[in-house]
Amino acid sequence: MKESKVDGGRLWASLMDMGRVGATSGGGSGRLALTDLDREARDLFVDWCRGAGCAVRIDRMGNIFARRAGTDEARSPIMTGSHLDTQPLGGKFDGVYGVLAGLEVVRALNDANIETEAPIDVVVWTDEEGVRFQSSMIASGIFAGMYDLDHGLSSADSNGNTMGEELERIGYAGPEPVGGYPVEAFFEAHIEQGPLLESEGKSVGVVLGAQGQRCYRVTVEGEEGHAGTLPMDQRRDALLGAARMIDAVNRVAFSHQPRPVITVGAIQARPNSPNTISGRTEFTVDSRHPDSDLLAAIGDDLRRVCAEIADAAGLDVNIEQTTHRPTITFDPSCITAIREAADGLGISHRDLYSAAGHDACNISLCAPTGMIFVPCEKGLSHNEKENAKPEDLTAGADVLLHAILGRANKESRR
Ligand SMILES: [Zn+2]
Repeated sequence: MKESKVDGGRLWASLMDMGRVGATSGGGSGRLALTDLDREARDLFVDWCRGAGCAVRIDRMGNIFARRAGTDEARSPIMTGSHLDTQPLGGKFDGVYGVLAGLEVVRALNDANIETEAPIDVVVWTDEEGVRFQSSMIASGIFAGMYDLDHGLSSADSNGNTMGEELERIGYAGPEPVGGYPVEAFFEAHIEQGPLLESEGKSVGVVLGAQGQRCYRVTVEGEEGHAGTLPMDQRRDALLGAARMIDAVNRVAFSHQPRPVITVGAIQARPNSPNTISGRTEFTVDSRHPDSDLLAAIGDDLRRVCAEIADAAGLDVNIEQTTHRPTITFDPSCITAIREAADGLGISHRDLYSAAGHDACNISLCAPTGMIFVPCEKGLSHNEKENAKPEDLTAGADVLLHAILGRANKESRR
C-alpha cells in the first residue's frame, strides 16, 4: 500500500475551513472548550465524518468517535485524533491538525478503496487545553481511567457552569460510557510546538515519549553569627554551603548522557542580612529527563553531592522531593510503526521527546500509543501566528496513514 497517499490540498483546505470557526483578527483561532464556537467546530467535523461514511458516537464527556468500519468488527479500534478546542488566542494547527489528519486518512482510504481489518476511530478529545475549566486533558484522562467521570462533569468555569451542563447545552453530552474498552492502538499527530524539527530540516518527529520531572527543596542548616567577629575557620555558613551545592548540582547534569536539564531557580538565605552569616538557606532544584531511571538516579546524585558538601563544612542538609511527574514512554511497536512508515515513504525524520503534555500521554496509560510531530514555524504555538508548511503537514498525515495501515494489519482491496 506504499502507493496510497493523503490529499495534502484537501487536508490544508479543511484546516483553513476549521480555522475560520472562531477566527481571530491576528490570523489564529479562539475556541474555548464547550462554547458555541466549540459546538460549531464539532458540528463541522461530524458533518465531514458522516460525509466520509463514518458512524459517529459521542461519550458522556463529549469525546467524539467517528468510525470507519473494519472488515472484522470484533477487532478493537485503531484510534487517531487530537483536540479542536484552542487557547483564547490560539493557532489553526495545535490539536486541529491531529483531528483533521485523522479525517484525511479516512478520506484517503475511501479514495483508494482500501479496507482495513480493524475499524478506525477518528477521535476529538474534549477540552485538551484546560483554559476554561482549569484542568487540561481531562476527558482523555477519564477515558484512560485517571479520573472518575463525576470529577470531569462537575468541573466548573469561572461563572460556575459545569462541564456537564455545558455539554448538555451544546448538544454533546453523549450516551456512551467513557472508555473502559480495549483500544488496539492510538496515534496522535501534532505540531511540534518547539524548534527542533524546523532547525534540522526534518519533516517528521518520531515521538518516543514525554519527559518526566522531579523537583526538590534543599534546606541547608548552619549557624548564624556576626560577620565581623566570627573567625573564618569557625563558621557554619549555610549560604556558602548552598552555593557549593548549587555548583555541584549543575555538574550532576553534565555527568549524565543523554543530558538532563537541571535548574536551581530560587534561593532564600536567612536571615538575609548583609552582616550576618546565614544560619539557614533553602534552594529549589528542577530536574527533567525522558528516562525515569535516570531521573531517579539524578535524585540520588543530588542527595550524595549535597551530603558530601554539608559534611565537609559542618552543615546539615535536608532534601525533600516536592514534585514528581512521571515520564511517559510510548509503545515500542507504535514508535516502530511510525518510523518504518516514514522510512518507507522516504520522509526525513528524527526521534524526539515531547516537552509538552498531550492527550496521547494520557491514552498511553490504557492503550499502545505513538505520536507523530511535524515542524511548525519558529516553534511558535499557543499563538495566533502559529504556522506550518503544507508539505510537512502532508508528510505527517502520510506517515499517520501508513502507521495506521500497518497496525490495522491485513488490509485488502474491495
Ligand atoms: Zn494540542
